[in-house]
Amino acid sequence: MGLLGSVRQEQGMVRKSLLVLLAVAAVGFSFLGLRDLRPHSQDLGDYLQVLFVSNGIDLSQEDFLEPVEDPYLAFAETLNLVPASAQSGDRINMREARRISEQFLAVKDRLYLDGLYGKIDMHEHYQVTGNIDLFLRALGCFGISRVVLLPTGLPPDNRFYKANWAGLMTWAKQYPDQIIPFCTIDEADPHAGELVEQYILEGAKGIKLIGGHPYYYDEPLNSQNMYKVYEMAAEHHVPVLIHGELINIPEQYDQLDQVFSDFPGVTFILAHYGVTLMGGIHLDVIAGLLGKHPNLYIDLSQGGFIRRYLSYLKEDPETIRNFVIQYQDRILFGSDVVLSIFTNDLNGLYQRIRCDIGACQEARFTCEFGAEQGLDLDREILRKLYYENPKRVLGL
Ligand SMILES: [Zn+2]
Repeated sequence: MGLLGSVRQEQGMVRKSLLVLLAVAAVGFSFLGLRDLRPHSQDLGDYLQVLFVSNGIDLSQEDFLEPVEDPYLAFAETLNLVPASAQSGDRINMREARRISEQFLAVKDRLYLDGLYGKIDMHEHYQVTGNIDLFLRALGCFGISRVVLLPTGLPPDNRFYKANWAGLMTWAKQYPDQIIPFCTIDEADPHAGELVEQYILEGAKGIKLIGGHPYYYDEPLNSQNMYKVYEMAAEHHVPVLIHGELINIPEQYDQLDQVFSDFPGVTFILAHYGVTLMGGIHLDVIAGLLGKHPNLYIDLSQGGFIRRYLSYLKEDPETIRNFVIQYQDRILFGSDVVLSIFTNDLNGLYQRIRCDIGACQEARFTCEFGAEQGLDLDREILRKLYYENPKRVLGL
């Protein structure tokens, strides 16, 4: 073969390979085109039902704490898989279906299937750098669909709370159905009352006072300054959540007693059982205030006290259980996580909420702190803690 022939042959081979390449590309493009240009549009509700049932999750309307039209759609919303605005009649394409499946498979093994879906979590904190997307997903694994977020700042004067509030409101606009924002103030700020009103007009659904906390405590909770805040709460019908410390700072008992009497129309919530599980079980102290003031609620959130709480539950579950049963219409569920860059981890958030849910509804359970004892409350009482009481307090 001459030189010329060899070049011709090579040119021929190049031409042939180009043709093959083009053909492959054409098939590829038409295949892609088939998927993207003619999507297998399907009904969202049907799709979700097949997805959940094929993964062993059979839902009915009775599994939800409030009436829902399509339980599968409601469950997907709780898991943050589809926007709250989606309707079961919506058509979704292949790409959306794939995204929903991937998201679902990522949390499938964490689902806490207790048939009490649509819980309202009444006590969590948000600081800028916290990831609410992630948190909503962790909460969704427990059927928690709405959450009160508190933009509190750092000691000693609640600093950075304004930045936290601004950040929280950005998230609240993104998740208007899931996030229930409360505002907060610095109790020593003479303009606290005016600020609270401004925040309520901006969308705050309640007020969180951190001033009763030992690290932040600087003035009495019945100060003139605070009375202006309570007046705003009365005027705008929003609840006031207070970190009171009835054992560590005993003078707060009389301060709060006076406040609750002077504002019978305002709903007050004392966090963490009024911090009466401290140096022993002193629930009789908070029972004194609950017995006297029908406008007072408490929450079960424990935050950094969780280990101590779990140890009291092991030591004397009956006393705590009887207390919760007695005041079942005045108790709210919460965990007291402080969302920030340090908590942006789905597993960590999930494990933390797992402890609080277990403590409420199981006799024995295991969470990140080990094998624990819980309150093992009846479904009817859980329904009140998770849903009926929060709904009443928030005026939903
Ligand atoms: Zn808290």
